[in-house]
Amino acid sequence: MNTLEEIISENRKYLDRGEVASYIPELKKANKNALGLYITTLNGEEYFAGDYDTKFTIQSISKIITLALAIMDNGKDYVFSKVGMEPTTEAFNSIIDLELKNLNKPLNPMINAGAIATVSMIKGKDKNEVFNRILEFTKKLCGNENLKVDESVYTSENRTGNRNRALAYFMKSTGIIEKDVEEVLYAYFKQCSIEVTCKDLSRIATVFANEGVLPWNEERVIPKEIARIVKTIMATCGMYDASGEFAVNIGLPSKSGVGGGILAVAPGKMGIGIVGPSLDKKGNSIGGVEVLKDLSEKFDLNIF
Ligand code: GLN
Repeated sequence: MNTLEEIISENRKYLDRGEVASYIPELKKANKNALGLYITTLNGEEYFAGDYDTKFTIQSISKIITLALAIMDNGKDYVFSKVGMEPTTEAFNSIIDLELKNLNKPLNPMINAGAIATVSMIKGKDKNEVFNRILEFTKKLCGNENLKVDESVYTSENRTGNRNRALAYFMKSTGIIEKDVEEVLYAYFKQCSIEVTCKDLSRIATVFANEGVLPWNEERVIPKEIARIVKTIMATCGMYDASGEFAVNIGLPSKSGVGGGILAVAPGKMGIGIVGPSLDKKGNSIGGVEVLKDLSEKFDLNIF
């Protein structure tokens, strides 16, 4: 067995200790036993292991894409006048920080409130144009023309997303969100419901590892400074309220989603995509975090 297959099989033991997300009813259908990884290096080598071809929705990993797009549309000063850049100790969908801390702005763009505020700043004449821009940009970052929304996950999120609605209406009341709330949530729920594989995540990660340039054709799609900002926010806030521990143990700018994905960036080296829908209590892939710990140690990837 090769090293990557060994890493996957050694970490399958953790899957039983987690749960698939259930607060979005459609996500309950995910396979709790799946665990896989895909690595794409900056010179185009690809390595994969385990259940790497599992499909899942991108969920919160989309927040790094919309952060890059919002800054490209509006500049960093405007975006960070409405969203903070500080980590949180509360859950990703928490309401409490919003009113108590940081002058009413959401703490950072990686928690739900901050991501909803971020997507509200993306330009477009209506919700369809805004979402289309997000989808097209995501396709570009993966080099995958076939990406599409899992409509049943979208419908499920839209029907049950009352907490996200509460966050969004609160931010509308304080002026953080200027657009119509339902228009903003349309784009947010759709962006979370884009269906991907580990390969797609690993390719998006290579673009950040390569400071905003597509490694496969040298096209610059994100300005270097913005790619850096996104990586920094990933390193400090990407794993929600587990970001500090993750930075100590793994040391890679990463972003997780409740679909079970984790995208990890090894700057100058490679992009890593992980799938493992069994989640720990903070909503991060329980097997995925362990796999990344092993990868980081074995290949000496820790950036710190
Ligand atoms: N769509 C999910 C939500 O809004 C995303 C959360 C996540 O992946 N952590 O609740």
